[in-house]
Amino acid sequence: MLLVMDAAHTQKQLDAVVKRIGELGYKAHVIPGASSIAVGITGNAGPLDPSLFEVLPGVKQAIPVSKPYKLAGRDFKRGDSVVRLQNGLAIGTDALVVIAGPCAIESEAQALRIARLVKKAGAHIFRGGAFKPRASPYAFQGLGAPALDILAAVREETGLPIVTEALDQESLEAVDRCADIIQIGARNMQNYALLREAGKLAKPVLLKWGLSATVDEWLMSAEHIMAEGNRQVILCERGIRTFADHTRNTLDLNVVPVIRKLSHLPILVDPSHGTGLRDKVAPLARAAAAVGAHGLRIEVHDRPDEALCDGPQSLLPGQLEELMAQLRAMGKALGFKL
Ligand code: PEP
Ligand code: MN
Repeated sequence: MLLVMDAAHTQKQLDAVVKRIGELGYKAHVIPGASSIAVGITGNAGPLDPSLFEVLPGVKQAIPVSKPYKLAGRDFKRGDSVVRLQNGLAIGTDALVVIAGPCAIESEAQALRIARLVKKAGAHIFRGGAFKPRASPYAFQGLGAPALDILAAVREETGLPIVTEALDQESLEAVDRCADIIQIGARNMQNYALLREAGKLAKPVLLKWGLSATVDEWLMSAEHIMAEGNRQVILCERGIRTFADHTRNTLDLNVVPVIRKLSHLPILVDPSHGTGLRDKVAPLARAAAAVGAHGLRIEVHDRPDEALCDGPQSLLPGQLEELMAQLRAMGKALGFKL
């Protein structure tokens, strides 16, 4: 249920509405808007009777919300959400945001080298995995906590904000201390305990789409984070499982306009994991920008043949530079900035 407050409501009336919702055993979420204030209600098991709330002074209308996700849905918030990083960078506007960097942090020298190159190419955020979720237990699992110190050094030198993945409760705390954005990977999209812990933090969360999850399940995962109080969620499509085996995954660009209709949250696209193949990354990155993604997340390595993880899908720094120029030209025609 969403309560729309009368334009002339008083603070006292708003406080009373929030209090009443609490008395009924539900949770109130005050949502400030450009022209009016709304109060979202969560915590109800079944449908609520609108008349319970329409009688309260200051309430203009009570609108039942049909979707299972509430805080993540457009019913609760019409305008697009913008996630702002500490350095002022905004994600979710008409300015395309590019996240670039190696799949994994391999050493301080490797991270700094690549970070300088992606910065030169015009990327806005540096990525690099410290804790890697690998299909094989024998594959490189990431450097772990020492990589977080390397990421901090990269930010210190380049000024680029950092995004890196948290795999579990322990790494979540460490990543929260270091990163500007906490990534929750595709495999953990339905790790509800982890999502709820991330929801208690005051840090943006990049939530990747699970390989075999539906859009409703994805948005419900965002809801788990938001229900704990953290509204700074960024969605990221990274390719889904289909019968097709000509690419690593199937990049589902349909989902971008689908999400933009259903949710106010920013949505990024990761054509690196979405295709798994270097020569497919730039075309799909361009396509993602064209269908309305708010940003891209691209793996880059200057020595991909030596990369400890995901070399075959990593762009060379020069290819990122070329892609950025193409995106800049596209933006002029399609109305996004870069
Ligand atoms: C990654 O971004 O490094 C990663 C492991 O992504 P995903 O969870 O999409 O596989
Ligand atoms: Mn990777």
